[in-house]
Amino acid sequence: MNTVVEKSVPHKSLLVQGYEVVIGFETHAQLSTRSKIFSRAATAFGAEPNTQACAVDLALPGTLPVMNKGAVERAIELGLALGSHIAPRSIFARKNYFYPDLPKGYQISQFEIPVVQGGSVEFYLGDEKKSVRLVRAHLEEDAGKSLHEDFIGQTGIDLNRAGTPLLEIVTEPDMRSTAEAVAYAKELHKIVTWIGICDGNMQEGSFRCDANVSVRKPSAELGTRREIKNLNSFKFMQQAIDYEIRWQIEELEDGRAIQQATVLFNPDTGETRAMRTKEDAADYRYFPDPDLPPLVIDPAWVERVRAGMTELPRVMAARFSAAYGLSDYDATALTQSRDVASYFEASAKACNQPKLVGNWIMGELSRRLNAAEADITTCPVSALQLAQLVTRIQDGTISNNAARQVMDALWAEPDSSVDVVIEAKGLKQMKDAGALEKIVDSVLAANPKNVEEFRAGNAKALNALVGQIMKGSQGKANPQQVNELLRAKLGA
Ligand code: ADP
Ligand code: MG
Repeated sequence: MNTVVEKSVPHKSLLVQGYEVVIGFETHAQLSTRSKIFSRAATAFGAEPNTQACAVDLALPGTLPVMNKGAVERAIELGLALGSHIAPRSIFARKNYFYPDLPKGYQISQFEIPVVQGGSVEFYLGDEKKSVRLVRAHLEEDAGKSLHEDFIGQTGIDLNRAGTPLLEIVTEPDMRSTAEAVAYAKELHKIVTWIGICDGNMQEGSFRCDANVSVRKPSAELGTRREIKNLNSFKFMQQAIDYEIRWQIEELEDGRAIQQATVLFNPDTGETRAMRTKEDAADYRYFPDPDLPPLVIDPAWVERVRAGMTELPRVMAARFSAAYGLSDYDATALTQSRDVASYFEASAKACNQPKLVGNWIMGELSRRLNAAEADITTCPVSALQLAQLVTRIQDGTISNNAARQVMDALWAEPDSSVDVVIEAKGLKQMKDAGALEKIVDSVLAANPKNVEEFRAGNAKALNALVGQIMKGSQGKANPQQVNELLRAKLGA
């Protein structure tokens, strides 16, 4: 079979051809420490191959790993952000396997007792609130990289990445659609970058997801999963999971059983392909690493970390709802990133019109930023300019329509001021009631048919009259005022 899936599996109808989809995620977030998890070598990306792996990373005889405190604190921060239990005592283990990019022949990880246990990631899928439970998040070291491109018939090994600190974040199999899985990954990405424990750069591999996917007939036991490795963009994630779901359903429909396997997604073909049959934990012969003492975290340390943490998106959203009277949905949307949130707050405070400011950010501004593939940090219209614009809408100086024209002008000329643009473009609404009344009277006199129709009960006839009057005022009349005046004149 060779179907490249284009449309995403919808999340509303949870059954796909009579099958329920089950997805669990393992995400490797590279922690943003300067040095490695057990050594003083640098973690910076992009250095010359094999210039940033020291004797400890290579496990040369006589070396001993020493835990990086910064990596532990970042793990604690994630646990606090997600409402997890921070284990007072966790253990490092050796995960043994042979691979050319693994210099020691084992990876130091955590197995039986991880540092972060439980917790959840909460997010909206459309307007539905979802919660995905975490099993755990554990600290571990990354391996090196095999380089295939630069060598013909050979493979190079770059060990710079060996020993880079990772937090592996594992969920329960709680997700039921591709859309939910992608929304989970985006939310987790938002949280780790928000609290600043990971730079979130997916192309460089700082945030990579493995999606475990299975399908089953409703209410049966879990189906056999296949694990799609190293998804490093949200777009590929969606394509890969969609493809995998359809592939598994087709296999089952054709009477074949699913074999547990690790698969890779090929963006060029849009297909997933089995890489190896899946190892069990037993294959790794885990045992406690004798070189590292247990990781002990006392409550005072947790509290110190908590005190130093930035306000979390969830907390900030709740504060926005309470302080600015925003709906949950809007408050969540405005806390999608720290930059958007602080732009919103600066603007809302400057004009005291949080709802209008929020609507402009989520509507007009987002639309324009998306079209320009820009984000709010490079927005040509500053938070204060938006506040001025909103003030001028609110005090009746300009209509919404005119405000969009002001926005156009500010976009093209970021240094101009709202009032200067309004003046220069003649966008002020007509405030002179006498002048407006003249226009109304002449439109009424010129359109007796509409007047008659309106009186006969056709409410739509009024819109035609409003349209004429707006035109007569060159768009400067206030539509609400026009409406009121008209109704008064027509005795409606
Ligand atoms: P491993 O490292 O062997 O993949 P883990 O237990 O660390 O095992 O991770 C398994 C992941 O797969 C978890 O995210 C879990 O929720 C998910 N998972 C387990 N069983 C299924 C299943 N039948 N279908 C989908 N996901 C599953
Ligand atoms: Mg796995």
